[in-house]
Amino acid sequence: MFVVLLGPPGAGKGTQARRLTGATGLLHLSTGDMFRENVRDGTELGVLAKGYMDRGELVPDEVTIAMLLERIARPDAADGAMFDGFPRNVAQAQALDEALAGRGAAIDRALLIAVSDGELEGRLGGRWLCRACGAVYHERNDPPKEAGRCDQCAGEIYQRDDDRPEVVRTRIERQKPPAALIGHYRDAGALREVDGERDLDAVTDGLLEALD
Ligand code: AMP
Repeated sequence: MFVVLLGPPGAGKGTQARRLTGATGLLHLSTGDMFRENVRDGTELGVLAKGYMDRGELVPDEVTIAMLLERIARPDAADGAMFDGFPRNVAQAQALDEALAGRGAAIDRALLIAVSDGELEGRLGGRWLCRACGAVYHERNDPPKEAGRCDQCAGEIYQRDDDRPEVVRTRIERQKPPAALIGHYRDAGALREVDGERDLDAVTDGLLEALD
């Protein structure tokens, strides 16, 4: 099964993807995580992506699509995956459709996590991540038990450069799923919308139901 998670930055795609992959066994593929790994490792791709990421802009399609297609060609993605943060536009969706069609597959579900702009600003501004395992915390809603340390692996907790308030607004404006992208999956009969303004468990349940 191939599943796409759609939603604005801060809708909880990463958090929910981790929960859903735990529940379904699907492979979690996040283009944001892939870019952050490349930035951390100082690769050529990371150097290129970092400028866009720090400004809250999308990395160019050519680069992003090539990275994603290379990743899904690996054997662990043969039977299914949950895409988190990809596609961000119709060109990326079409590239993914074509690659899957080439192996007789398609996107079975596109799950849209709906959250209002005001709620997003508050969430992103307070978000902190573990540098080692990527676990997500929120200074108000879901803080780690020990300040600055990850509950799961004791790694260091940090704030993403692009979660600073001045960048957050740009990301929300520029990175909302465009109507055409939502329409792409609606036309394919794959779209399901879930209210993302409820507590984490309720959203997870809603998404699992939508996956049936
Ligand atoms: P995310 O973790 O999904 O919020 O992504 C972090 C950053 O990585 C974004 O602000 C973009 O700069 C970049 N990025 C992630 N996924 C994509 C994508 N599908 N297309 C273009 N840029 C992306």
